[in-house]
Amino acid sequence: MVIVTGRETSQVTGLRAEPSAVITTPPDQSSTREQLIARLQELELLTPKNFEAVSAPAAVVELQARHHGFDDLVHRAQLILADVAGRRGDLAEQGRVAAAVTLWAEQNGHDVLLARGHRLQAIFYRRLGDSAQALAHAVTGLQHAENLPERLRCSNLITLALLLDLNGQFHEAERRFGEALLIAEKNDDADQALTVINNMAFTAYENEDVDTANDLARQMRTIAADHGIGLDGLYLDTLARIALLQGRPDEAEAALQPVLDDPYGPLLSEADSLPECLLTLVEIYQSTGRAELTGRTLDWAGEVCDKRGLAGVAARVHRARAEWHAEGGRFREAYEEYRLYHARSEALHSAEREARAYAMQAIFEAEEARRASERFQALAYQDALTGLYNRRYADERLAAAVAAARRSGQPLSVAVVDADHFKRINDQLTHAAGDAVLRELGALLNRFVTGSEIAARLGGEEFLLLLPGVGATAAQHRCETLAAMVRTNDWSPLTGTLPVTVSIGVATHTDGPVTPDLLLGRADTSLYAAKHAGRDRVSAA
Ligand code: GH3
Ligand code: MG
Ligand code: MG
Repeated sequence: MVIVTGRETSQVTGLRAEPSAVITTPPDQSSTREQLIARLQELELLTPKNFEAVSAPAAVVELQARHHGFDDLVHRAQLILADVAGRRGDLAEQGRVAAAVTLWAEQNGHDVLLARGHRLQAIFYRRLGDSAQALAHAVTGLQHAENLPERLRCSNLITLALLLDLNGQFHEAERRFGEALLIAEKNDDADQALTVINNMAFTAYENEDVDTANDLARQMRTIAADHGIGLDGLYLDTLARIALLQGRPDEAEAALQPVLDDPYGPLLSEADSLPECLLTLVEIYQSTGRAELTGRTLDWAGEVCDKRGLAGVAARVHRARAEWHAEGGRFREAYEEYRLYHARSEALHSAEREARAYAMQAIFEAEEARRASERFQALAYQDALTGLYNRRYADERLAAAVAAARRSGQPLSVAVVDADHFKRINDQLTHAAGDAVLRELGALLNRFVTGSEIAARLGGEEFLLLLPGVGATAAQHRCETLAAMVRTNDWSPLTGTLPVTVSIGVATHTDGPVTPDLLLGRADTSLYAAKHAGRDRVSAA
């Protein structure tokens, strides 16, 4: 998962060295002040696995600063204590102190406190699930961080980068992460580098960029091993999700085992670490068909969220539970959970999910419950972005079509349609433009299919055509027509001068043994050949 506060803790040891021994009675005010500032900087850079390791010394600094009348340093110590409170699960305290300190800093024009205070507020709102508000604070925080020590500035940079990411500004996020990584590397700061790379890996995971994610996961393991840093629960969660993305649930589950072994232990250094890991486990259990374990894990995650006031994660727990109900055919419960999800999620960035939740709501206002349940079932088969059928439906229909073809001896063709250089569209234009292109591609495919043919979105920029009764030659022709339709479509309103084309891999079953996976695998191999041969073309096995 993403690390909000963004620090690891290998330096924590040693902090226990009695604070009073470090802060000795000062010869004069100015050197006391310097010592307190040095102490605060040290504490600010630590994210305690053992909260008390930081909270006790910070409390001592607060007392000393108060005694000497250094109001700004009192507030700085309070921010550290507020961070600890948030980690303990007292989100309200974290938000209250962060806001109060920021206000004081504004009135007194105090840059360090403004930078740190806004950053903590960013973390607070992120935990509440309000990413837009969180981003605003992160931006303001960084604006005030210009003159901070580099490592502190870097932590502001990381917070900003991950909130940009959460708000869908992937490019900007990448740039900031890159900047932060340079600083961390320059300072030989393995902890901070690990934090940045973990966040970059999580971003790559979210964008389903497998190669980058793998590469970053490797780097995480190397840095941790080289510097003897134990991988924290948040890092393990990222590694698990990357394994899951590649269809390796066993590996994902193994990665999270240390968390399950000690769910309230030092591995989980942020308030939302545990529920985040539990949500990943839910996906693992679901992908391996363990429905009961899924339900129990969802309950656990929900309890932890409620206890800790984690509205953002709580909303996702509701959503996961809605999906779990829907998969079990319990549509009434699924609707109730979607409603809760919708009510609780104020600022979730995914328009896709929101669209779905809104659709649920509209249906239930307009229709009686039973009919709506049927509609719900239809929606469960629909891809929210393009309106095409989704992967679940495609899988079911493919299995049925394969069985029918084997019984009837009729041919069956499948085609995997993949947009060419789609990343370029996202990168050179915007993610929103990419989405618009996907919607238009969906509309083209929808117009293209006739009769018993089916078009579905498999995920990302990849679509599937099911062509029952269509033999190899006819399928090739049909797909060439489709590729030409895409090529000659007027894309300029969406992409300007950037062309949009697709590559298509076709596979046809005529006789002999076949399974859905086998047929899809053959279409994939053909797709690969089409890409390899220069894209914008059709290839058949
Ligand atoms: P190739 O021609 O080899 O297929 O290159 P490509 O860039 O199209 O393929 P790649 O698989 O490397 O990248 C696909 C990109 O599609 C990565 C991901 O960011 C983007 N993507 C996936 N899902 C969505 C989505 O729902 N919306 C948008 N805008 N982009 C998406
Ligand atoms: Mg592609
Ligand atoms: Mg692809």
